[in-house]
Amino acid sequence: MSNVRNQPCSCGSGIKYKKCCLEHQNKYTVFCDETGNSGSNYLDLNQPFFVIAGWIVPNKNLKNTSYIEECTTSLGVSNELKSSKLIKRKKARQKFIDLFDSLCINLECIPTFVFAEKKYCVAAKIIETLLDPAYNNEVDYSFTFDNLKKKELTEKVYSFPNESLEDFINFYLDGNAEKMTQCIRQMSDHAYSIGLYEISKLFKGALSGIVNNLETEKAAHASMPIKQWRL
Ligand SMILES: [Zn+2]
Repeated sequence: MSNVRNQPCSCGSGIKYKKCCLEHQNKYTVFCDETGNSGSNYLDLNQPFFVIAGWIVPNKNLKNTSYIEECTTSLGVSNELKSSKLIKRKKARQKFIDLFDSLCINLECIPTFVFAEKKYCVAAKIIETLLDPAYNNEVDYSFTFDNLKKKELTEKVYSFPNESLEDFINFYLDGNAEKMTQCIRQMSDHAYSIGLYEISKLFKGALSGIVNNLETEKAAHASMPIKQWRL
């Protein structure tokens, strides 16, 4: 029997799972936030990216927040330490550089940022939602952890016409199973017409479970803080 630990990691690194994500699990905590506000419209061509930035912090240093406290105290910042408060004054700028150095060198934190193209996010959401093994008989349960396969399919859906992606988001947010059924059929037909027979078949597999699927998604959404996603 093959051991999952010795298989290639599902993150796509090409390294064995035990030497990759398994080794990093529970060792680090990621703190991040959207930098700037690029709007909630997922297919706004004028603002096509989310930028998420933050720090990867080793858990062993998580409780050592004295550097940040020293910095906020010396600058007289009462609430959240925002960069806008740090770059205005020369003294504050130097403090910011000191804080950055302290986090990197003394606490072994790693600054990190991610550019996420909104259109790609929509394509990934289509794959995640419609190819959910719980609601799609064509999809095997192993697909849940097969990130490389998801990436491959997402890249194909990314090239679909914008209207299909827009329809998907709107019907998804409305929880409109009837219109979503039409949308899935259209995407399936489109996939077939350009030779993507596998995706075409997988999308058709989502039709029979779409009512329950959308209800579950809607329930999950109700617990989320921001509900302004609409196009
Ligand atoms: Zn990995």
